[in-house]
Amino acid sequence: MPHYEYHCDACDTTFNATLTLREHEEERLRCPQCGSEKVHQLVSTFSAVTSKKS
Ligand SMILES: [Zn+2]
Repeated sequence: MPHYEYHCDACDTTFNATLTLREHEEERLRCPQCGSEKVHQLVSTFSAVTSKKS
């Protein structure tokens, strides 16, 4: 199961969540800290980092 990293805008907390594809598409995720739905997914760092030297 893939891990997703999320950030809560309400309490400024970053947390990881493992979701099924269905849950992920529906975006029904709540912050474990404050229960807010104001969370957004962070970009995966491992795939975003590209070190190309030209
Ligand atoms: Zn929160």
